[in-house]
Amino acid sequence: MHALFKPWLVNDAFGDPGLYVDFCDERRALLFDLGDISRLLPGQLMRLSHVFVTHTHMDHFSGFDHLLRVMLGRKAGIVMFGGPNFLEQVEHKLSAYTWNVVHRYEVELVIDAREIGVDGSGQRALFSSRRRFAREAGPPFERSDDVVHNEATFRVRGRFVDHDIPCVAYVLEEKARVNVAKDRLAALGVSTGAWLRELKHAVLTGAPDESPIEVRWRDRHGEHAMTRQVGELRHLIVDIVPGQRIGYVTDLRYTESNVETLAELMHDVDLLFIESVFLDEDKAHGLRKNHLTAGQAGLIARRIGARAVVPFHFSPRYEGRSAALIAEVQAAWSATSVQTHCDQRRGE
Ligand SMILES: [Zn+2]
Ligand SMILES: [Zn+2]
Repeated sequence: MHALFKPWLVNDAFGDPGLYVDFCDERRALLFDLGDISRLLPGQLMRLSHVFVTHTHMDHFSGFDHLLRVMLGRKAGIVMFGGPNFLEQVEHKLSAYTWNVVHRYEVELVIDAREIGVDGSGQRALFSSRRRFAREAGPPFERSDDVVHNEATFRVRGRFVDHDIPCVAYVLEEKARVNVAKDRLAALGVSTGAWLRELKHAVLTGAPDESPIEVRWRDRHGEHAMTRQVGELRHLIVDIVPGQRIGYVTDLRYTESNVETLAELMHDVDLLFIESVFLDEDKAHGLRKNHLTAGQAGLIARRIGARAVVPFHFSPRYEGRSAALIAEVQAAWSATSVQTHCDQRRGE
């Protein structure tokens, strides 16, 4: 059974940070950070439903204009999350242009901007092309603990790390994965079909056991249909396993409190995208610039128990030396398995 979503970095490791998360079963995507996104095709940008900005340094936010240009007159809405002052910054971005024509466009664009406050608040503002993108106050958005966005099948959690300024580290969590046991499906005398997606959705959203599912399939004998209940099918053919969790960590200092925050937010993630800006030999420089070294990124990956690590946000000073940065991350991260192995043996 394939995953709910497929994440990939927008640029190479020396380019602006950005993670594009495509949904496998829907024409829909999420984007983490909004720097140089010119590599994304208009069709990929049009699929975006939510954008999660870590902080508004230019390499993380300058792509706002490009996205706006593509969406204008074509896309009805988008939700954007950011940290302190985000609403004001979106407002200023929009007020930098002249809007004497857009209110007549057939497709109204509404930008739903959401500001994650360091105090736990969730402020919201709406900007509509019909009203020349004037800021309108929206009701606060719901946050519970560190969950900033919650849907039936996944959630996004975020916490602040220190980058001299507050910067949000995000984790994207598929709530659960519904695996269908194909052999048991055959034993039941039915075949795969669109109904499986309906069943998975019903299971993931906690539909009552007695909800009916129209089981329809086609085989060489033709079309078949029968009605079964969600509870019965869940019991017979479905295995529920934990979903995929993906961490997106960029722009932070290597401090104990940052490491602690990340360990709480995303322990044991399946996949960790983490900035690895400098080599360890330039640690002092990293400290001045409020960024991690590759070695520090590897140590964090090890501390949180990440199962796979993708380093990015390399400083241009290492152009042509990406292998050295990757090696440093790997060395610090995989030291862990050796360590665990030794500990286990000692315990034996
Ligand atoms: Zn950056
Ligand atoms: Zn930054």
